[in-house]
Amino acid sequence: MRKTLIATAIGAALTLSACSEQPSTPADLSADTTVEAMVDVASENPFFQPFALQYEAPDFRLIDDAHFLPAFEEGMARHMAEINAIANNPEPATFENTIVAMERSGDMLTRVSRVFFNLSGTDSNEKRRGIARELSPKLSAHSDNINLNPALFARVEAIYNQREALGLDAESARLLDVYYDRFVRSGATLTEDQQVKIRALNEEHSNLTTQFSQNQLAITRDIAVVVDNVEELDGLSDSQIRAAATAAEAAGHEGKYLLSITNTTRQPILTSLNNRELRQRVWEASAFRGTSGELDVRPIVSRLAQIRAERAQLLGYNNWAEYQLENTMAETPQNVLDMLTSMVPAVVANTKQEQADIQEMIRRHGGDFEVQPWDWEYYAELVRQEKYDLDENEVKQYFEFNRVLHDGVFYTMNRLYGIRFEPRPDLPVYHPDVEAYEVFDHDGTSLAIFYADYFAREGKRGGAWMSSFVGQSHLLGKKPVVVNVMNIPKAPEGEPTLISYDHTTTIFHELGHGIHGMFSNVKYPSLAGTAVSRDFVEFPSTFEEDWAAHPEVLANYAKHHESGEPIPSELLEKIMQSRSFNQGFDTLEYIAASFLDMEWHTLSADASLQNVEQFEAAALAKYGVDLPAVPPRYKSTFFNHSIGGGYSAGYYAYMWSEILAADAFAYVQSRGGLTRENGDHYRKNILEVGNSRPPMESYIKFRGQEPTTDALLIRRGLKTQLD
Ligand SMILES: [Zn+2]
Repeated sequence: MRKTLIATAIGAALTLSACSEQPSTPADLSADTTVEAMVDVASENPFFQPFALQYEAPDFRLIDDAHFLPAFEEGMARHMAEINAIANNPEPATFENTIVAMERSGDMLTRVSRVFFNLSGTDSNEKRRGIARELSPKLSAHSDNINLNPALFARVEAIYNQREALGLDAESARLLDVYYDRFVRSGATLTEDQQVKIRALNEEHSNLTTQFSQNQLAITRDIAVVVDNVEELDGLSDSQIRAAATAAEAAGHEGKYLLSITNTTRQPILTSLNNRELRQRVWEASAFRGTSGELDVRPIVSRLAQIRAERAQLLGYNNWAEYQLENTMAETPQNVLDMLTSMVPAVVANTKQEQADIQEMIRRHGGDFEVQPWDWEYYAELVRQEKYDLDENEVKQYFEFNRVLHDGVFYTMNRLYGIRFEPRPDLPVYHPDVEAYEVFDHDGTSLAIFYADYFAREGKRGGAWMSSFVGQSHLLGKKPVVVNVMNIPKAPEGEPTLISYDHTTTIFHELGHGIHGMFSNVKYPSLAGTAVSRDFVEFPSTFEEDWAAHPEVLANYAKHHESGEPIPSELLEKIMQSRSFNQGFDTLEYIAASFLDMEWHTLSADASLQNVEQFEAAALAKYGVDLPAVPPRYKSTFFNHSIGGGYSAGYYAYMWSEILAADAFAYVQSRGGLTRENGDHYRKNILEVGNSRPPMESYIKFRGQEPTTDALLIRRGLKTQLD
């Protein structure tokens, strides 16, 4: 995501969501947005100056949708004027008048971007989707105008070349590296001929990735499985059957049933379908999508791999993965492959054990066949019921929302870091469900504003994420204003909201991102908080998740919502055990997809166009992850993360972050667990520093050594003890 250089402004606004796998698709542009926006006058537009509230928190009472477009236009104009003044400054280039000046630029654009893109995610409507669509090409052109400004790059390069003599402090030196790298990586040092080539490749790449993504929507619609007789749906619930009938009617198959296909190879509905032939039809529709007819995307897949390799070669790299990984924690393709490879033996062994349990369950149900991919989830569910017999409703009685938040999550934050969350009902919010807090540090100083937006509603994007309205920076004198967003179903008025254990850990997870933003303690806004590499950003959030199950924390919050009785230990044991169920399969399908992603993006520029099926089969066999019953989580023809581009050579990052989190958590437990000393050590070395130094350096300062995969394998129940 962080591939463009727009100082802090757009970059920050567009990358502000951690945790979301899928970007939202803008709907059709509603025609009246521009006209309505134009009648607004600048003097009434609240974005034209900083908000007057504490820490420049947005004053939502003053903001109207009509303010956005004029504020973006003015924000881009002001930003460009600042950039031009820097580029054309008659004084010789200095770190102060060029790099620091860029850090100070774009204040208004940052302000409106952060508010707009936050509200687009939490409170979307037709008008806002229309604005987003109108803005997208304008913001992209604005970014190009900065990236491709030769006078500006000449100044950055001049400073970079004398960097040894400048006597910069470590954070400033890091900032200079980050700026220089971004210019170079977008092609600033290439010859004119090369720039022409790279622009052509960029254009073809952009067209093909758009086509790939748009085809996915059409393919998913086309491959939905039509079922003639309700008897075939045996095993589904009444409401699932009604939904299938309604979907069929909407698609013009009146009187029939339509089973839609979700975006992974595996299909959740296979858990309950008793009819084996239908299971096979559903699975094959999923697994072979995009390989025939007009929507055959295989030529796009192989050409995209080639384009990326060619682009990488022009920029001086051996392959695309090398280019993509350069500024990540993993650094090189080999490091990613080593990490994934080291997990294969334990993961395959566990998967084979799970397969043996499933095979036994098939035999006991009178089946005389070897387990196939379309059988796995069906029989795994039977094994799960027999082994754990967990009643979700019983569990929820012990996880009442307010208790989880205050006595669980905020309590943990207080024990580890000494911070307190004080409600601030006087601060304006953008929806009545949102609660504002002021966060105070252990010594009583005010640290940040925090908005809690936990409940599902119409117009909110699915999933959970953290984002910022204001980023921390000592240079700009700014303190953080942070939001956590989730989609917890809210109980009717007067009833307690009882939540699942999964939702409980997600609240911990999101506040893990939240404190990464709120504890940020750096000078430059570009390096603050969660502005870290893709394979590091989920580390602080996943680390916080595991406190939900810490005995001292549980004892403080997991109580029956009526009686106040603590959760029975047998029930707790069942919850924990059921979480490691089927982890062999889950982990194997994930790492198989990660290998596939790496194989596509380590091709060299002179490799020929690949046959997709042969390429996949060879890649999985090469790494020993080609179990017939456990296909990769995504195959190339619908692997939007990898082929669609956003996570190309980056799908491994989720696992990488989890390795750090598990290793860090185990380390902290070995040093006394829930203590201020542990919290402060982690805060100082990991959370406060943001991207102001290389992430591995931070990790080693915290941990004393590089991480290993041992703790992760134990966390996932794939290993019982250290070697
Ligand atoms: Zn996350």
